Amino acid sequence: MPTLVSLPAFEDNYIWVLHDGQHAVAVDPGDPAPLIAFLDAQRLVLTTVLITHHHRDHTGGNTLLRQRFNCEIYAPENPRIPATTHILRGGDAVDIAQPPLHFDVIATPGHTLDHISYAGHGNLFCGDTVFGCGCGKLFEGNPGMMAASLDRILTLPDATRVCCAHEYTLSNIDFARTIDGHNPALLERQAKDRDARAHGRPTLPSTLALEKLTNPFLRFHDVDMTAFAANYLNQPHPGPAEVFGAIRAAKDAWDG
Ligand code: ZN
Ligand code: FE
Repeated sequence: MPTLVSLPAFEDNYIWVLHDGQHAVAVDPGDPAPLIAFLDAQRLVLTTVLITHHHRDHTGGNTLLRQRFNCEIYAPENPRIPATTHILRGGDAVDIAQPPLHFDVIATPGHTLDHISYAGHGNLFCGDTVFGCGCGKLFEGNPGMMAASLDRILTLPDATRVCCAHEYTLSNIDFARTIDGHNPALLERQAKDRDARAHGRPTLPSTLALEKLTNPFLRFHDVDMTAFAANYLNQPHPGPAEVFGAIRAAKDAWDG
């Protein structure tokens, strides 16, 4: 099994690294500095970069890393992503020789139209699609699009490690409690994740099982979330995409 590491970057980003002790793959290295420091300290060679979407906090390291390591850079098709060597679409696969890794590419539009996620070896690198107890803002897509992306993610195994690109979990839990305050799994998660942050540890990766229990944005088929949305929208029978849209709208209003 490859080793999975999260490297903090900027204020609240994570760069995810998979390595075998010699060669490494990095996901969304928006800032090359913490990645290069890690690679140097561990004497690893970066062979591959995987990009989820075009935002700068995910792609800002591409040009420098390509120059320095001559690494392959996989990304969705978008001219705003620098130094791409391989363009990916949903349904594609990525086969990496060193370290030997295989990923399935899932189209996950919603946060942006170009957003893709990578599933392999029990990990999901979902960029800004799913966060711990949350999901990405809909900057380019609409609720139906994001709900379809999340439905695709919900088909992955429960044990999947959910490797999100930002540490937003505690604040997301604060919001989740406003619409789902009686959920015991949510309260338990809050205690655990507060403890993790108090000790400087990441709350991630989580598991898809935990997200299914606690993340309101993955529960748009659930009766409690449907009841919340019916009330919020003042509409008796909202469909799943409308339930998702109501939760997203409530979170956007809560964020202010
Ligand atoms: Zn983003
Ligand atoms: Fe981001």
